[in-house]
Amino acid sequence: MGGSDDTPPPRKIIHVDMDAFYASVEQRDNPELRGKPVAVGSPQQRGVVAAASYEARKFGVHSAMASVTAKRKCPELIFVPHRFDVYREVSRQIHEIFAEHTPLIEPLSLDEAYLDVTENLQQIDTATEVAEAIRAKIKAVTNLTASAGVSYNKFLAKIASGQNKPDGLFVIAPKAGPAFVEALPVGKFHGVGPATAEKMKRLGIETGLDLKARSLASLQSDFGKSGWYYYWISRGVDDRPVQPDRIRKSIGAEDTFSKDVFNVEDATQGLRPLIEKVWRYCSANEIRGRTVTLKVKYADFQQVTRSRTTGSPITGQTDFEQVATGLLEAVFPTRKGIRLLGIALSSLGDEAGDETQLRFDI
Ligand SMILES: [Mg+2]
Repeated sequence: MGGSDDTPPPRKIIHVDMDAFYASVEQRDNPELRGKPVAVGSPQQRGVVAAASYEARKFGVHSAMASVTAKRKCPELIFVPHRFDVYREVSRQIHEIFAEHTPLIEPLSLDEAYLDVTENLQQIDTATEVAEAIRAKIKAVTNLTASAGVSYNKFLAKIASGQNKPDGLFVIAPKAGPAFVEALPVGKFHGVGPATAEKMKRLGIETGLDLKARSLASLQSDFGKSGWYYYWISRGVDDRPVQPDRIRKSIGAEDTFSKDVFNVEDATQGLRPLIEKVWRYCSANEIRGRTVTLKVKYADFQQVTRSRTTGSPITGQTDFEQVATGLLEAVFPTRKGIRLLGIALSSLGDEAGDETQLRFDI
C-alpha cells in the first residue's frame, strides 16, 4: 500500500470572474464604445451604475455608484442601458465551458463561479492548466476576457482571481497560502465588509497576521459567529465545499430506531420527526413537491419503498403527514421488525417559478 494518508489531498478550486462584465459586453457589441469610459445603467437623477468599463474606473467610477456622482467624476462617461438577455446568454456560454471540465460549479452571479476541479472531466493534471484552458475557451467563444484564481479553497481562489485583473491568472499554492493571508490587509478578505474592517482596525487588526494572533475565544467575543470563520481563514483554512446549483431531485430524511419496531403506533411516532425535518427544509426553501416516498428497512435488512404522487403540489405539513402515514399504515401488519424508516418528497418544482427559486438559492 502506498501512502496511507489520513488527510485527503488538497482540493483544487478555481474562481472564474469575467472582467467588467456588462460593460465589456457592451464594448464588444458596439465598437464605438471601445477604449472609452462606459457605464451600464441609467444616467437619470436616481440612476445607479451597474457596471463600469476599465476606462471609467480610472476616473473612480465603480458599480453601485449613483449615476450623478459617476458623471461628476467622469464628465465624458457614456451611459448605456443594460441588456440582461445578452448577459444571460454569455453566462450560459461560460457555464457550458465550465461544465466541460467539472460538474461542481457554484455560481455567485451571472459572471462569477467557483469550480472544484480536483477530479476534472478532461483529466488535466493541474488546476492552473484547467484555468488557462477555460480562459482561452471563454475568449474564443465569447470574445470577452475572464480572470481566474487558483488555490486549494474557495476563500483563497476568490482573492486570487482579483490579483491580476483584467485578463489575468493568479495561483496560490498550498505552501504559499498561510503566508499570503498573513500579508493581506483585512479589508481585502472576502466576508469582511467595510464596517467590520473598520472595527478590526480599532482593535488593532489590520492584516491577516494580526487576525491570526488573536485567540478563537477573543474573535468570537468580538465578532460573534463570524469569529470562527475569521480564525480559520487567517490560517488559510476554508473547508466550505463548492456547492453546485443542480436542482435537487428530492428532499428526504431517515433514521434508524434504537429498537426494532413492530406496531403501527411506534412506527408513526418514529416517522413524525422525519416528516417535520423534511417539511421544515422544504418550507424554508419554498420547495413544493408532489411525490411522497416511504422507505422501510426491516431487521433482516430487506428494504421496500412505497410512494404516492398527488395531483397538485403538497402545500402543508398536515397534507404531507397524511400521505406519509397512509403509506406507512399500508405496510402493517408486519411479522418482521422495522429497523429504519425514511421519508422523501420529490417531483419538485412543478410549479412555475420554483425552478428559478432553487437555482438562485445559494
Ligand atoms: Mg466580474
